[in-house]
Amino acid sequence: MSASPEEAGKFRVRLKVSDYEAILGHARAELPNEACGLLGGRLDGDVKTVEKVYLTSNVDASREHFSIDPREQLAAVKDMRANGLVPLGNFHSHPESPARPSKEDIHLAHDPNASYLILSFAEENPVIKAFRVENEIPYQETLEIEQAGE
Ligand SMILES: [Zn+2]
Repeated sequence: MSASPEEAGKFRVRLKVSDYEAILGHARAELPNEACGLLGGRLDGDVKTVEKVYLTSNVDASREHFSIDPREQLAAVKDMRANGLVPLGNFHSHPESPARPSKEDIHLAHDPNASYLILSFAEENPVIKAFRVENEIPYQETLEIEQAGE
């Protein structure tokens, strides 16, 4: 079974420039290792609006793997609930490989409704892309990085 292009783009993900810059800064600070974090926000139809980014520790401290610190994850989810936000997905960086899910990323992506953002430093300029993964197949989502208030 293959998804149509319409189905592939199930969600549109909106990210504020300031949150993108926070992700970028965190990922640069963690180099040469992968950095990771969580995305909280609002889901309105097929539009996901990221309202808050949680910069977490990669307990694997690895260039090729990441595991979000479970205590930081719990604290982030509690904070989302307290602020009326829902978990939208997570992000991690690829210090040396392209902005697409690795085999391991795909295997570990259990939630078909989650958005997985990947920030790559493999090229001269950082590249960030959003994916969702369903039945171990990654689909790229539309990612819009926009100024606050737009
Ligand atoms: Zn990865």
